[in-house]
Amino acid sequence: MAKKKSKRSNIKRPPRHVASKGFDRLMFFLWQFTWGLPVNIIGLLAFLVTYRGRRHEKFCNSVITYIPGNWGGVSLGIFIFMCEGKDKAWEHDTKIHEYGHTIQCLLLGVFYWLVIGIPSSIWCNFPPCVKYRKKNNVSYYSLYCEKWANSWGERWSRQKRGKLI
Ligand SMILES: [Zn+2]
Repeated sequence: MAKKKSKRSNIKRPPRHVASKGFDRLMFFLWQFTWGLPVNIIGLLAFLVTYRGRRHEKFCNSVITYIPGNWGGVSLGIFIFMCEGKDKAWEHDTKIHEYGHTIQCLLLGVFYWLVIGIPSSIWCNFPPCVKYRKKNNVSYYSLYCEKWANSWGERWSRQKRGKLI
């Protein structure tokens, strides 16, 4: 006879992300809006400007706003902006990646622009970089700040990327 399972074991809960409650969560937001303020203030403004008529979603300690267009994602502190209308696998992986940038902001504060923001946007948008990646079949995530975002995103959200992109 099979051992009777308790009711509790049938409920599958997602793993709790880091700083998901209580004092840790309070410290997370306090730190984002003091040390990380130079990034979060821009994120908040962008959030307010794009708020109406958009889909929003909470992800760990961040808020995601989906904006239509032909683009990817950007993380400005706890405010994440992602392309609307892509498939679920892309959304899943990108959320985790962008959340990695949210955590980088926690560490770097104002230096986020210099260490992450500027290199990342050049690597993403500057035509010679786009050409270089295409020609040499180089992954977007090979740049230090992007690889780092994937790794910290997975670690802090306690979710795995599907490695689809
Ligand atoms: Zn990135």
